[in-house]
Amino acid sequence: MSDFLSGLKSVIMLRSLRSRIFLIILIVGIIPCILVRITIVSDYESRAVENRVSAVQNQLTITANHLVANKYISALTGRADEFTESLDVMDAEIEMLSNIYEGRIMIIGGNFEVLKDTYGISTGKTMISEEVIECFRGNSTSYYDKEHGYIELTTPVADTTTAGGAGVIRGVMLTSISDDSIINMADVLGNNALILEISIVAIVIALAFILSKFLVKPIDKLTKRISDVKAGYNTNIEPVNECSETAHISDAFNNLLVRINTLDESRSEFVANVSHELKTPMASMKVLSDSLLASNTATVEEYREFMQDIASEVDRENRIITDLLALVKMDDRSGQNLNIAQTNINEMTELVLKRLRVIARKQNVDVTFETERQVLAEVDEVKMTLLVSNLVENAVKYNKENGWVKVSLDADHQSFTLTVEDSGLGIPEESAPHIYERFYRVDKSHSKEIGGTGLGLAIVRNVVLMHHGSIEVTSREGEGSKFVVTIPLIYIADAK
Ligand code: ADP
Repeated sequence: MSDFLSGLKSVIMLRSLRSRIFLIILIVGIIPCILVRITIVSDYESRAVENRVSAVQNQLTITANHLVANKYISALTGRADEFTESLDVMDAEIEMLSNIYEGRIMIIGGNFEVLKDTYGISTGKTMISEEVIECFRGNSTSYYDKEHGYIELTTPVADTTTAGGAGVIRGVMLTSISDDSIINMADVLGNNALILEISIVAIVIALAFILSKFLVKPIDKLTKRISDVKAGYNTNIEPVNECSETAHISDAFNNLLVRINTLDESRSEFVANVSHELKTPMASMKVLSDSLLASNTATVEEYREFMQDIASEVDRENRIITDLLALVKMDDRSGQNLNIAQTNINEMTELVLKRLRVIARKQNVDVTFETERQVLAEVDEVKMTLLVSNLVENAVKYNKENGWVKVSLDADHQSFTLTVEDSGLGIPEESAPHIYERFYRVDKSHSKEIGGTGLGLAIVRNVVLMHHGSIEVTSREGEGSKFVVTIPLIYIADAK
């Protein structure tokens, strides 16, 4: 029920793709329909008025010519008595004309006096209007008053038989006809168009409904398949290939699933490794303390020796926990845990080397530092110290008696490069791709002997990534290794 309500809400708020598609189809289908109806009806109306005006005007011109031929105006003004017998004939023609057109005809004389009005209201009155004046100049006019529903026309009663054929305007026929027939026809047309429009709207709504459902169907299908994926689900979703977009989303989702599964596996492996690594020193301590407890004859020297072993296992456990904590803190590579500050890399390296030379001396390993220039860079000093000390510590640890470690620092205008080279054991070719993995050790027993946790290079790699730098290793087994770290001088924060 709540699904239905939220679905309804998203339709109303136009948040669902389906409602948007529905609306677009509706608008695209209906608006042209309405526009076509409106233009057809108004176009018909103006054309119908034009036709009617020209038809009526033709008829009026014929009648005007009859009026001139019969000297109708002169007869009305009493200046041509001999023609009064044709007055009735002309009156009848004018009356007939006004009946045919359901209108009113007025004959206006030269002094703007209404000589004849088929309505009989204005006879004898004066009628001056712009149109009448214009008509007396010889131009017939027409005017459509839509609001009051009539068309008004003026027709000159021109006598072309006098004045050398140039024509004398004897009077003006002012005709008003009703537009009822046009309006009735336009109404019929409008109603028909409206019925057609309603039918089209109904079809468009049905089409919009079906099409929007059809277009969104692959997305619905995809959503269902994705929501069917339960936590820990190991298989991919079946791709929705109905359209290329959903096929791409299916592919992207399957890739994501693979990455999640890989991440899940590596997390479980990491937890298993951590437990194993933490349990090993514990197990040794347990064995050592049990054997002491079981012996009634152990001497003080034996106690001391066992206790030293236990202490070194405690140290080892401690180192693993310290390294683990350092790694976990760096797991968030967004840079939020970074404390970036301008740091003198030379001084920082010197400090690390000073501490490590004490250990190196015990192994007769010579540690040198070469640098051409003072390097200032925006780094997290604590983390960068971890990086240098892990690399140099490894170079010392995995070295030979009387070996050497060369640390060098250089920079260009973009980044600085720290190189740690040693004359040590080297890394076997097949192990090189794995050395940055957590808990990976080339020679487990040897590494344990010299106190390795397998986390040092994982920490180094994380520090490099956090500073958007790079690390490369070249090594030859038995001859030595060379680690080259490049870090930008200016820290660029990740875009959020
Ligand atoms: P560890 O704490 O065991 O040193 P690291 O992650 O620092 O762990 O190193 C992983 C493995 O890579 C080590 O166990 C070692 O076998 C190898 N390794 C690292 N640095 C060197 C080096 N400079 N020379 C030879 N082997 C190295």
